[in-house]
Amino acid sequence: MMKNTIVLYSSIGRGHVFSMVELGNLILTHNPSFSIIILIPTPPNTANIDTTTFGCNSSITFHHLTITPPGSSADTNTIGPHLPIFDITRHGNHNLHHVLQYISKTSNLKAIVVDFMNYSATEVTSTLDIPTLFYYTSGASTFCYLNHLQTIKENRTKSTNDKQAYLEIPGFPTISAQELLHDPRHIEDIFIKISATLSDCDGIIINTFNAFEERAIKTLEEGSCFPQEKNPPPVFCIGPVISMSRGEKDEHGCLSWLDSQPSQNVVLLSFGSLGRFKKNQLKEIAIGLEKSERRFLWVVRSEFDEESLEELLPEGFLERIKEKGMVVKNWAPQAAILSHDSVGGFVTHCGWNSVLEAVCEGVPMVAWPLYAEQKLNRVVLVKEMKVALALEECEDGFVSATELGERVKELMNSEKGKEIRERILNMKVSAVEARAEGGSSYGALNRMTKTWEEKEHLHHFSPNGIF
Ligand code: UDP
Repeated sequence: MMKNTIVLYSSIGRGHVFSMVELGNLILTHNPSFSIIILIPTPPNTANIDTTTFGCNSSITFHHLTITPPGSSADTNTIGPHLPIFDITRHGNHNLHHVLQYISKTSNLKAIVVDFMNYSATEVTSTLDIPTLFYYTSGASTFCYLNHLQTIKENRTKSTNDKQAYLEIPGFPTISAQELLHDPRHIEDIFIKISATLSDCDGIIINTFNAFEERAIKTLEEGSCFPQEKNPPPVFCIGPVISMSRGEKDEHGCLSWLDSQPSQNVVLLSFGSLGRFKKNQLKEIAIGLEKSERRFLWVVRSEFDEESLEELLPEGFLERIKEKGMVVKNWAPQAAILSHDSVGGFVTHCGWNSVLEAVCEGVPMVAWPLYAEQKLNRVVLVKEMKVALALEECEDGFVSATELGERVKELMNSEKGKEIRERILNMKVSAVEARAEGGSSYGALNRMTKTWEEKEHLHHFSPNGIF
């Protein structure tokens, strides 16, 4: 008998593949009878990602899907060279079509789950009549915001250029123009397209849980915030799904250094896979950390990769802080570090995976957003959930040593810091409850997989296909 198969279509980059692997593992823990195929889009001249270290369930297989180089297509031109990532997988649609046709013939293909960044995949899946769900890999609150972008655009008047003007967005905290994305208009049109595509699919999976984003999830479930209000898609909040199966080594010895530190005392500073700083900002961070007099573990990534830590940081800094601090270059096993008992605070760029890892380990945050939707995440973390302190940057994004030092001290040694810690520790418990049998995320996962078990799906391939 042919196995029920689910295809997961990752976006480009290891982080996105990790997310899909974790989703695949989760689906299989819930229903081991499925077979899962993860499609990895692979641009030309890019080495295939080594999937052997992922530690995934044996019912998961991988397929590298070649993306043919974009020519001078009209779409890439309108989006701009800084955002090809959202549209690049469109150039893999031809191959996607063939692969899905092949999978349909050799297995019982029940559904495809597409990373929302590959939104143009619906051009293929709708033609092949394959039930299509999207995986929105950030939170429900920013998804509400995304769905409201069209309205924001239509209502744009002089007053929304006023930085003090406030916007009311269903499911999202009240926000001033100042707190918006760095430059919303660059990416607005593409996000409006994404929002329209997602509001017309067979389901949206969000990596979050009810207790964490109650208001936003309720807004989404009511359907009132979708741009197309007729029959909004079901929303499955199945999180927190965090990525622990990367087979990473602790090459700098961070974990053994943490073993030598007192409980709940160390502040981790880590800024995602893309967070890089200029030299003057790195120096300012170093001064701020020294001023704070707290213990810290700092993952330094700079725009000048070839320079050593000695060259990047103030003279004598590494020697002066060696009793209290550890500084490593480029990468550290963040999830494992956050789970260490010595870690008591986290200065984060507010990437959604980092946020969920902090929540799952009950580590309070200082929010320092850098790119993508992270400024919005800061608003939610600080105003709505109250599990982080906001770091105030200057107009150009620069953060002073004094500001950093003060916020780190406030997080680790103040009444407000204590309240934030208590709140996030409660959230940690709620996260476990959400995933456990009977919890909200367990229920959502159950509803989602049931539809794949039950639905008898007939594929209607047009003899000529779309290509
Ligand atoms: N990460 C890590 N070590 C580092 C930096 C990042 O393990 O030095 C991991 C982090 O634990 C998280 C992911 O990379 O799982 C970053 O995802 P996130 O959504 O936070 O940010 P992004 O990199 O997508 O901006």
